[in-house]
Parts: sequence; structure tokens; C-alpha cells
Amino acid sequence: GRLSGLSTLVTGGGSGLGRAVVDRYIAEGAVVTVLERSPDKLRDLVASHGDSVHPVQGDVTSGDDNVAAVDAALKAFGGLDTFVGNAGLWDFGKPLLRMTMNDLEQGYRELFDVNVKGYIVGARAAAEALAERGGSMIFTLSNAALFPRGGGVLYTASKHAGVGVVSQLAYELAPRVRVNAVAPGGMATDLRGPRAMGLGEQSITDILPVEDQLRQFSALDIAPRAEDYVDPYVLLAARNESRTVTGVVFDVSAVGTPRRPDVDSDVANPGTRKHTT
Ligand code: NAD
Repeated sequence: GRLSGLSTLVTGGGSGLGRAVVDRYIAEGAVVTVLERSPDKLRDLVASHGDSVHPVQGDVTSGDDNVAAVDAALKAFGGLDTFVGNAGLWDFGKPLLRMTMNDLEQGYRELFDVNVKGYIVGARAAAEALAERGGSMIFTLSNAALFPRGGGVLYTASKHAGVGVVSQLAYELAPRVRVNAVAPGGMATDLRGPRAMGLGEQSITDILPVEDQLRQFSALDIAPRAEDYVDPYVLLAARNESRTVTGVVFDVSAVGTPRRPDVDSDVANPGTRKHTT
């Protein structure tokens, strides 16, 4: 496999995109430590992958839990080659004027703690081990890291902050550690919201007519699944496939070019060209 013998750590690897990355990394020959808050999801992972996965139950907002996960990876697999910061919360696109001051103040804290602080303390915990192996960090951002309409102001601001995390850490940790991000677009997962906003038990899949919505957003007219986004995570983790890449946000969301379903072109609609003779 492209990741043979690599030791990797994925946060939020219990479901959705993180789980898809874990499954693919193992298929490519890596071993994976997973920092995840849900014990049920960790049990499922171990049932599927046995010794290839090392589960660590904990919270990404805790520096200590991140250190424990890195230590577990070092103990189980002898080192660390790749840190994937991925666990996140969404704000369900709640508009500013529909949020109370309490939503904003408490929701901000909870969401930024996971989406921003979680990435920074994870990076701190992993950096020295990664430097020893010449490894890399990969963060999950979003179309919301680059464009509006992928969430509300809390989520969009938190994912934009992730661009700063990548840019600054790529600078500080060079040349030993490369730091990049993948920005996927929407997908049906178990993505939750802040408890403080009453969104702790809501899942993105419960509220969106996801297929239709995703198809409308994508310039490519597809409704991607989590598995469709994992290739860049392999590219960025593989030892010799992205040696020159650092400080990059790899936008794979296909939302930056808005879809024009009404466009009348030969390229968009092959075979429908009207002949005028
Ligand atoms: P998900 O909820 O299925 O996966 C996230 C995992 O992280 C879950 O298993 C959850 O239990 C875990 N987690 C959440 N908070 C945690 C914490 N504090 N400590 C430890 N684990 C925690 O959702 P997903 O959609 O796969 O989300 C993964 C990433 O993808 C997030 O960063 C999200 O912002 C990003 N993303 C998602 C979408 C989408 O439409 N689903 C689009 C763009 C980006």
C-alpha cells in the first residue's frame, strides 16, 4: 500500500470523514491511533480493524487527551508519521439574527474549542514526534474555510481560522514537518452541533435533504460521500507523493465555481447540440 508501515493518528475517526480516512489508511497499509469521544464508535472501529487500530477515548479540546493519544501511538506503533486533526462541530448554518446572545456566547466557546483549539493543542501534542520522523499534519477544513454559505458565522469563522493554523504552523514547523489541510464540501455524516445551542443531538443527516442539496452546491453535479474525499489525505500522508507541499489548503469542495444547471453548452450537455443547417 501507499502508506505501508506508517503510524498515523486521526481525531474524530469514529464516524463520517474521519472513519473513511481510517478505513482507507488501513487499506493502504498504515496503522491508526484514533482519538474519539464516542466509546460506541471506538468499539465499532476495533471490531472492524482489530490490531491495526488503537482506540483512545478522549476529547480533542483537552491538551492532556491529545498528549495521551500521541503517547499511545508511540507506544503501540513506535513513532508517529501523520497527525490528522479532523473532529469538528457544525452550527447548522444558523443565521446571525436567529441566534440569541446566549447561542453566540456559549456556542462560540464550544464550537471554537473543538474546531480551532482542538487543532492547535493536537498540533502541539504531535509536533515533536512528527519532527522525528519527518512527518506531516493534515487538518480537515471545509468549503466554509474559503467561502460563505457552508455554515453560519460561527462555523465559517472557525474554519477560516483553520487556514491561519495551517499557514502559521507550516512556517514554524518547516522544514521537518509539513502542514496542510483538506477542504471538503458537504457530505452525509453524523456531524453534530454545540450542546449549548441545543444542537448536540442533531446530526447534519437528520436535517438536510442531503443528496439534493449537495448536488445543487457542487459544480460537478455530484453528491459526494465521505469516501470520495479521502484521496488527498492519502496523497498528503504518503512518504513520497507530496514532498514539496506545505502550507496548502487543498480545496476539494467543488463549490467555489457555482453550478450553472441552466447553462446551454456542448460541454455541459454533450450530445444535445442543435444542428442548424
Ligand atoms: P462526524 O460527526 O461524523 O465525525 C466527527 C467525529 O468527531 C465524530 O465521531 C465525533 O464523535 C467526534 N468528535 C466530535 N467532537 C469531539 C471531541 N470534542 N473530542 C473527540 N471527538 C469528537 O462529522 P464529519 O462530517 O465526518 O466531520 C469531520 C470533519 O469534516 C469536521 O471537521 C467537519 O467540520 C468537516 N466537514 C464536514 C462536512 C459535512 O458536510 N459533513 C463538510 C465540510 C467539512
